[in-house]
Formats: sequence, C-alpha cells, structure tokens
Amino acid sequence: MSQTSVKTVIIEEFGGPEVMKLAEREVGEPGPGEIRIRHKACGLNFIDVYQRTGLYPLQLPTPLGMEAAGVVEAVGEGVTHLKPGDRAAYASMPPGSYCEARVMPAAQVCPLPDGISFEEGAAMMLKGLTVQYLFRRTTPIAKGDTVLFHAAAGGVGLIACQWARSEGITLIGTAGTDEKCALAKENGATHVINYRTENFEEKVKEITGGAGVDVVMDSIGKDTFEGSTNCLKPFGMMITFGNASGKVPPVDVGMLAAKGSIKLTRPTLFTHIADHATCQQMAQDLFEKVTSGAVKIHIDQRFPLDRVADAHRALEARQTTGATILEV
Ligand code: NDP
Repeated sequence: MSQTSVKTVIIEEFGGPEVMKLAEREVGEPGPGEIRIRHKACGLNFIDVYQRTGLYPLQLPTPLGMEAAGVVEAVGEGVTHLKPGDRAAYASMPPGSYCEARVMPAAQVCPLPDGISFEEGAAMMLKGLTVQYLFRRTTPIAKGDTVLFHAAAGGVGLIACQWARSEGITLIGTAGTDEKCALAKENGATHVINYRTENFEEKVKEITGGAGVDVVMDSIGKDTFEGSTNCLKPFGMMITFGNASGKVPPVDVGMLAAKGSIKLTRPTLFTHIADHATCQQMAQDLFEKVTSGAVKIHIDQRFPLDRVADAHRALEARQTTGATILEV
C-alpha cells in the first residue's frame, strides 16, 4: 500500500464544536519509529475541548483527538514492540486520533491484551494512565489515606473511584447531580458530595471529623481550586490537573504556608509517558487493574465520528458520565 484516503476530524480555527470538520486525508507508510494503525474506536477527552477552544494552543490547521484503539497495519524501521496484525491502544501526542487510520509515533502505543475490547481500550488509555500516575507516581498515597476527587462520575473519575477502592484508599467523590453521586458511590467512592447543592468544604470537614484530607485531585480548576486547598490536612498535597470550569488564577505561594505547609503540583500525563519504557510499564499496571476486574471501564455514550460536535457539546454541558466513544 502506498496511500489511502481516510476520514479525519480537523480544525482550521479555534472555537465552538462547530469548528470541527470531517476531512479526507491521505495516509501513507510509517517512517522510522512510526506505525500505521487502523482504528476500531476512538476516545473522547476533556483535553480535546481545551485544544479545540485554543485554551491549550495548537498550530493550525490540526487534527484532534488523543486516544484510540485498533489494529496495527504496518510498522516502520526500529519498532520492535508491535507488529502488523497486533491489537493496540494509546494515549498520545500529537493529537490526531479522531480518524479511521493514521501514521503516528509508536513509542506510546501499547499492545492491547485480548481480554480488553477495542472500545474499552479506546476509552481507558488517556483516562486510565492519568489515574495510574495520580495514585502511583505523584505523591505517596497509602492504604487508609483519604483523597478528595472532583468530577468523580466522569471518565477519569469512575476509574479513580474503582482504583481507590481496590487499593483501600478512602475516596471522597464530588459530582454535579445526585444520580452522578450514586454512580460514583456504586463504583467505589467511600463518600459522595453533590457540589452543586452542598458546600463541599463543609462536607469534607464533617466527613473527616475536621481533620481534612491527605490529597486533593482537582480537575475542575477555577471554581474549586480555592475550596480544595481548604480541605487539606497540614502537609497535604493539592494536585490540580485540569480546568473544566476554567484556568486557575495565579497563586500566591504564601498561601501554601498559611494553609499548613501544604504542597501544590500541576502534572500532565504527557510528561509521565514521554519515556517509552515507563509508558509501557504504566499501561501494564492499568491493564492488570482491568483484566483482574478491579476496574471496569464504563462506556456510557457513543457517537459516530461525523457527530463529534454533538459529543463535545454533551461533554461540555456536563451531560456525560464515564467514557464516551467515537465510532469509526
Ligand atoms: P469528565 O468526563 O470528567 O468531564 C468533565 C466533568 O467535569 C463534567 O462531567 C462535570 O462533572 C465536571 N465539571 C465541573 N464543572 C464543569 C464545567 N464548568 N464545565 C464542564 N464540566 C464541568 O472529563 P474527562 O474524564 O475527560 O477529564 C476529567 C478532567 O481531567 C478534565 O479536566 C481533564 O482535562 C483532566 N485531565 C487531565 C490530565 C492531566 O494529565 N493533567 C489527563 C486527563 C484528564 P459534574 O457534572 O459531576 O461536575
């Protein structure tokens, strides 16, 4: 094969969901360190919204999407961990997973175990590897520790609830409706708070007997940052890892002392998976959680690729739970 034409979602300007266009693109042979993969399913993530709106600027025009699963069709020189015919899944930069097939760097593409479906693979790599690094690689979290996790019924959230349960970690989950709170609880959250009807700071104090939590995992950003830091014990760790409600305003570092020598970090998955061997090890850890049954991947919405704009609208309107798949 030399060139084949595939459907790909691209943007030529930043903006609302309507700026995403389905285009035909030529896909050729992989170069050194690359593979060509034919997708079976693509994952939707909130980072796709940040990239579409320009909050995380990309060079235009650009394809979108960071997560998918499929079958390897061809491998370039130097690629040894994958071969044609292999099932595979990935979370990867640069964006471009909203498509039928692509040529891409191989380093972050992982062989997908037989016990995990293509849809699960497409729904779990970016979200699940994020949970892996949050619980294993960001700050020590021991059995019995308490974590406050916002948006606990979301894509990352439902994996986090189950991960915490499987490790004996007490997770206090927040969510925007009572139904979402119930879902988070079914999936392992020890306590749940509807943060649209209840003051989460007060509830956390009540639940922890005034002690506060060891760690906060906050992907909401602007609306919750301040309150989240007030929920920490002395020496606690504030992990701010997303901006669903908008960017966190500049921080006065003096508040870290005032709030009890608390710590603050702002990680991104892509630093953690930049190294090939580390990425593959993290994926193994995640795959074991799923194949052992400790973590079930919830796919609660499906949209055909040509309805990607509706998928973005639903995600931004807080209408989704668990993961969303784009069908190719
Ligand atoms: P989710 O499925 O969790 O969707 C986002 C959720 O955020 C919504 O469902 C909603 O839940 C909540 N939310 C609160 N306020 C708002 C708002 N103003 N607008 C929209 N949503 C809001 O998304 P993902 O699982 O894809 O991602 C979760 C978060 O994790 C995102 O912020 C994402 O950017 C971040 N992330 C960060 C990574 C990193 O390495 N730094 C990697 C992966 C994800 P509710 O209604 O319950 O409030």
